[in-house]
Amino acid sequence: MKVIGLTGGIGSGKSTVAQYLAKLGAVIIDADKIGHEILKSDAEVRRKVVAAFGRQILDPGGEIDRQKLGEIVFNHPESLSLLNQLMHPLMYDIAKTRIEEYRQQGVGVVVLEAALLVEIGWTSLVDELWVTVASEANALKRLQKQRGLTEEQTLARLRSQLSSEERIKHANAIINNDGDLDEMKTRVRELWLRLQSQGGRNSSPD
Ligand code: ADP
Repeated sequence: MKVIGLTGGIGSGKSTVAQYLAKLGAVIIDADKIGHEILKSDAEVRRKVVAAFGRQILDPGGEIDRQKLGEIVFNHPESLSLLNQLMHPLMYDIAKTRIEEYRQQGVGVVVLEAALLVEIGWTSLVDELWVTVASEANALKRLQKQRGLTEEQTLARLRSQLSSEERIKHANAIINNDGDLDEMKTRVRELWLRLQSQGGRNSSPD
């Protein structure tokens, strides 16, 4: 089995690329979703997060409101680092377990999609690292459209992350996503075929 780490700045197109890889036959593990599951289901983490950030992050039903939490952490680097310290070890364990489960099931290609894959040292979980890159202007434009955030909110998220240059240093493949979706797909297909020729064996629909 091959494990591809897929990373890139927010709005650079990771999820779009992952969706396309799923169509080609890869199994996707989305680190963000693991984080969301933990915030929902792990009572101890929830207690710690509320203790750290206050009841203002709860919605009327008592669940953590990720939008409110995001507002705090993306504007305060020390809060982001505190949240990450709470969450990342648990996320790592779950990602690792899932990879092993897929390996035992005989899956050919797993894609681990994580914005902070390089920063938090998860490269040991993957065989190859693929990095999506888009200009800040494109990421900003696309994110504002997709998530309904203001320019200021979007920039705070963009700038809370590593620069592309730093990620690219670790990359086995770069997916330049400044073009249209068809261009992105052509590049991803090319990487997928390269992978198949190296022995990743998930079947691709026709
Ligand atoms: P990320 O997961 O890296 O944050 P997304 O894949 O969610 O980024 O992409 C952000 C937004 O940009 C989405 O609305 C997506 O549909 C759009 N998008 C991604 N790639 C392209 C592209 N090549 N052309 C136009 N829009 C794109």
